[in-house]
Amino acid sequence: MSFTLTNTNKGVLCIVHNHFKYRHQRVMARRDISWRCTVRQCNSTIHTNSKISNILTENENISHNHNIVKNRDIQRQIVRNNCKQKATECIMERPNKTIRRELMVVETIELLHDDNV
Ligand SMILES: [Zn+2]
Repeated sequence: MSFTLTNTNKGVLCIVHNHFKYRHQRVMARRDISWRCTVRQCNSTIHTNSKISNILTENENISHNHNIVKNRDIQRQIVRNNCKQKATECIMERPNKTIRRELMVVETIELLHDDNV
């Protein structure tokens, strides 16, 4: 099962999985991590192991009451976070150069995974 790690606008760790986005909720007794859907009205949660390398929840246990998050929106957020991070790391670099480079990365990803979502 594949997923992407990112951050919310507020800097909370998130994972994107099957076109849904989950924010870090809590660490459970066995150190597994519980993640909750970022849509406020939705109660769906998934679990990962403590290293966030594997999703432990089966897909059939997840029932969202809303539409999927569009790939484009997710990518936009990843670009924004990457730019923010890069801008902090290398303050000598001109911002438009940082943004251009991150956009190039995303365009490549989009070409590879064009699933018409
Ligand atoms: Zn949901």
